[in-house]
Amino acid sequence: MSESQDCLFCKIIAGEIPSTKVYEDETAYAFKDINPKAKVHVLIVPRRHYANVAELAKADPAELAHIAEVAQSIADKEFHGAYRLVFNTGLDAGQTVFHVHAHVLTGEKLDE
Ligand code: C5P
Repeated sequence: MSESQDCLFCKIIAGEIPSTKVYEDETAYAFKDINPKAKVHVLIVPRRHYANVAELAKADPAELAHIAEVAQSIADKEFHGAYRLVFNTGLDAGQTVFHVHAHVLTGEKLDE
């Protein structure tokens, strides 16, 4: 079984596991985090499976830029364009799902 066949976020993108969709297009999918750490907490994932942000940046830098644009558009709608964008990378940084995902935290003033 390949990594992507066993991947939680690949299953969410495929609709095999439910999620609350916020945005989607041909290459990216965004959904509400089930354990929100801010008033608005959205995860943006590329449809293609990459383990982390470095792999994505190397293989498809345009998609990484696209994810930043999607984050901006969510924050424009939710909180006058202010947001925090986080890519946890590696177990010891708190990465628990090894399909790259951008955490977009917005919707309220964030702690510094
Ligand atoms: O950066 P990290 O890998 O820890 O982030 C994974 C995120 O995926 C968590 O914030 C978790 O709440 C979220 N998640 C989700 N829906 C799932 C499983 C995990 O939103 N079904």
